[in-house]
Amino acid sequence: RRLEVAAAPLTNGVLADGTLVPLLANLGSPKEAANAVELGAEGVGLFRTEFLFLDSKTAPTVEEQEKQYTELLAAFPGKKVVVRALDAGADKPLSFLNAAKEENPALGLRGLRALRASEQILRDQLTALVNAQNATEADLWVMAPMVADAPEAEYFVALGKELGLKTVGAMAEIPSLALVADQVAEVSDFVSIGTNDLTQYTMAADRMLGSVASYQDPWHPAVLRLIKMLGDAGAAAGKPVGVCGEAAADPLLAVVLVGLGATTLSMTPAALVDVRAELAGVTLDEARAKAAAALGGRSADEARAAASAVVAAGA
Ligand code: PEP
Ligand code: MG
Repeated sequence: RRLEVAAAPLTNGVLADGTLVPLLANLGSPKEAANAVELGAEGVGLFRTEFLFLDSKTAPTVEEQEKQYTELLAAFPGKKVVVRALDAGADKPLSFLNAAKEENPALGLRGLRALRASEQILRDQLTALVNAQNATEADLWVMAPMVADAPEAEYFVALGKELGLKTVGAMAEIPSLALVADQVAEVSDFVSIGTNDLTQYTMAADRMLGSVASYQDPWHPAVLRLIKMLGDAGAAAGKPVGVCGEAAADPLLAVVLVGLGATTLSMTPAALVDVRAELAGVTLDEARAKAAAALGGRSADEARAAASAVVAAGA
């Protein structure tokens, strides 16, 4: 007789004191949804829509997009799915949005800036998302990439709501946004921190350039201090603040991010297992103690060492 061995059920993200920290997946195609669910993703924290259209010469139609977004949302009934509006430019140029050649594309017409310059493309994308939202059971959240300040966030939120979206927010990837985080939290339903670009712009080091790769370290206390400003502003306004950059996939840094005020973490699905295990070993107070220690470092290495030197009782 063959014994049926049931796989242990994957628990949700939770700290040692019972504080819930939903663990979400970063995806670039609806085809990646099944694997993320299998690895215990509690939803999607970043769906990079530009990946779908990197080879398109012309802007995708509403119907074409609606099909993709509906397929994605249908994989997460009752779950949160955060979709990002097209993030065109710099490392991900889209020929139908980034026409001009720029000397410094990372500092150019990219993200929300490019979408505003071609507003019909943005309207079509948001319309496709509204249709997918209304056709499925998922809890759709939509956010704009590369938002510089509160008026830009307000523009995107107003347009999304006018077209019928329920939950609309801004990504924090530019230091200016973190510096006015209190103003942004007032107008945005949520904020999601993109630590890859936030680090690039804080350290003034091109994330694509190997010669300055050592600067692209989200452990740098300058980056952590900006994240704390965002976490504090979110807590004061009662708005969720997630992290969806690569930083969330580093287990010890994930603990520090929670200590700085992150309410959800989103990462490549392969990282979910290790991050879930690390979070389970610390209380919120211990995560805050590690965050405080990291903030006092003078470099990324010092911050990392200081955070690991704070020993959690459950670790
Ligand atoms: C980020 O900048 O951290 C982010 C999540 O966006 P992307 O990596 O797609 O630029
Ligand atoms: Mg980014």
